[in-house]
Amino acid sequence: MNKSSFHLTEQNQKIESRIVVALERISEAFRVLLWKKSKETSLSPIQIQILIFISFHSLEKCKVSYLADEFNMTKATISDSIRVLLSKDLVAKETDPQDTRSYTLSLTQKGKTIAKEAAFFASSIERPIDKLTQEQKTVMLNGLLQLIYDLNKSGIITIQRMCFTCSHYKPKNGIHYCNLLKTKLAAPDIRLDCPEHEIIT
Ligand code: SF4
Repeated sequence: MNKSSFHLTEQNQKIESRIVVALERISEAFRVLLWKKSKETSLSPIQIQILIFISFHSLEKCKVSYLADEFNMTKATISDSIRVLLSKDLVAKETDPQDTRSYTLSLTQKGKTIAKEAAFFASSIERPIDKLTQEQKTVMLNGLLQLIYDLNKSGIITIQRMCFTCSHYKPKNGIHYCNLLKTKLAAPDIRLDCPEHEIIT
């Protein structure tokens, strides 16, 4: 890898470089869409992401330390965002009786209303994906899952709740299998964020 993927000659000669640049463009699209939602709600992008995360995940994951790992941010940054969400009455906190420094977060009615609407912030990205064939979607999903898995292994992205990092995942002769659900998983069924995921210890 002698030249940057953003070097035009490299990019136009290597498919790998074009994929990297394409992913960078897509990440820019997410950033733009999140900022748009941010302006509409008068919340920062991370505050919106926290609301969406809380609305779809179990209570034990809705803690400052977990959120910090999830979003690759410091606990202090997450705590600042939570302070704002509390002051706007969008989340409520419940202190852990065993450890008074620790608390879980849930959405208030007002928070649920905002999260429900904000959760569609990426629908402009979903629409063109809908137009792909099932085969194109499967190839795309597999490529992305492998990429995320490798980035997770190299420590660039932290928490992953995907099949490939789950203790229940048992591939057999090239067939994906979930020992918990007792079922084969076809390539398009491999999960990226599974509520039953258990970290391999
Ligand atoms: S429990 Fe979920 S993440 Fe784990 S292998 Fe089964 S489907 Fe995949």
